[in-house]
Amino acid sequence: MAYLTLRGINKIYPNGFHAVHDFNMEIEKGEFIVFVGSSGCGKSTTLRMIAGLENISKGEFYIDGEKVNEKGPRERGVAMVFQSYALYPHMSVYDNLAFGLMLQGVDDDVIEKKVLSTAKILGLTDYLDRLPRELSGGQRQRVAVGRAIIRKVNIFLMDEPLSNLDAKQRVTMRSEITQIHRETGATTIYVTHDQTEAMTMADRIVVMKDGYIQQIGTPYDLYFNPVNMFVAGFIGEPPMNFIEAKVKKGRLALSESDIDLGAVADDDVLKQYEGSEIVFGFRPEAVKSDLGGSTKRAYHIKSFTNLVELLGDNTNVYVNFDGFSSILKVEPHHAPSIGSTFEFAIPFDSVYLFDKHTEKRIKLRKE
Ligand code: ADP
Repeated sequence: MAYLTLRGINKIYPNGFHAVHDFNMEIEKGEFIVFVGSSGCGKSTTLRMIAGLENISKGEFYIDGEKVNEKGPRERGVAMVFQSYALYPHMSVYDNLAFGLMLQGVDDDVIEKKVLSTAKILGLTDYLDRLPRELSGGQRQRVAVGRAIIRKVNIFLMDEPLSNLDAKQRVTMRSEITQIHRETGATTIYVTHDQTEAMTMADRIVVMKDGYIQQIGTPYDLYFNPVNMFVAGFIGEPPMNFIEAKVKKGRLALSESDIDLGAVADDDVLKQYEGSEIVFGFRPEAVKSDLGGSTKRAYHIKSFTNLVELLGDNTNVYVNFDGFSSILKVEPHHAPSIGSTFEFAIPFDSVYLFDKHTEKRIKLRKE
């Protein structure tokens, strides 16, 4: 059995709202797991059931082979960091870090050693005498993380810990938390609505929607092998472009033009979609603006340029074709000007096809 096992976990709140449906997952010791999804999809509810702060309506939760449904947070050996730092405002950083250990009756010299080593990991050594209000947001969040890691717990739970920080601090704390995880080795479950945090921090990501798991996988899996349109559209920034079209004799018919399905046209699976509508997906960064020889094995599209955003390392180009809007990521010196026609190519192997009705990925035999 894995270190953590969630089997058929459901949450039905007292008002009857079914917030989490049949959550099944196994987590190995030391993994960094991220739950990601839009607000209200059930991430925090699941985390709180793991913490023991919310009861499990149905299903079983095991830690190291032992069922812990009825156990409280302390008995489960978990520490949790919340979005609000929850620091004691009248206590110094030193005392905020030391407080939990003091309550446990740990000796003063042991406490001092632990506070100093935790402060060192978090870069707080020079701030131990300060009060929380004398710290920046990032430093306060570090104290909150420090309070959790000082206790040597086995399971570390974090609920949107970076959402009160500005963009720059978020990037710094992101790598600091990953570093702390590497140093402590604690099994970590981290909740966020931000796909970039999920992609950069996780060993494995759980994508949730409306209380259901959509997909569990490594960042690489989710980006390259999304199982449905939701995951494909959620992971990646800007999101994947989706074009609705009809399969007609090996071509993808749009309203004004059609796309030769080329290599995949005679695929047995795709043949079953003859005459029906499917969704054609491609990532903004997959397109090639240089229509030279290297793009022969590609779909060629002529579009109209609506907007161009220069970001520095690349450019987001907003285009229209056949009534659809798409965003393309293009190298700045290949970017078109607003109002011009823009021809681009999508390599065959970077196209995703989806069933329009189930929104599931159409897995072609040839893949
Ligand atoms: P997330 O963390 O993904 O934003 P939550 O787990 O907080 O989502 O909430 C999931 C759903 O459960 C939401 O629709 C929310 O309104 C609902 N919910 C949360 N807490 C309660 C509660 N105490 N009673 C009833 N519904 C709740």
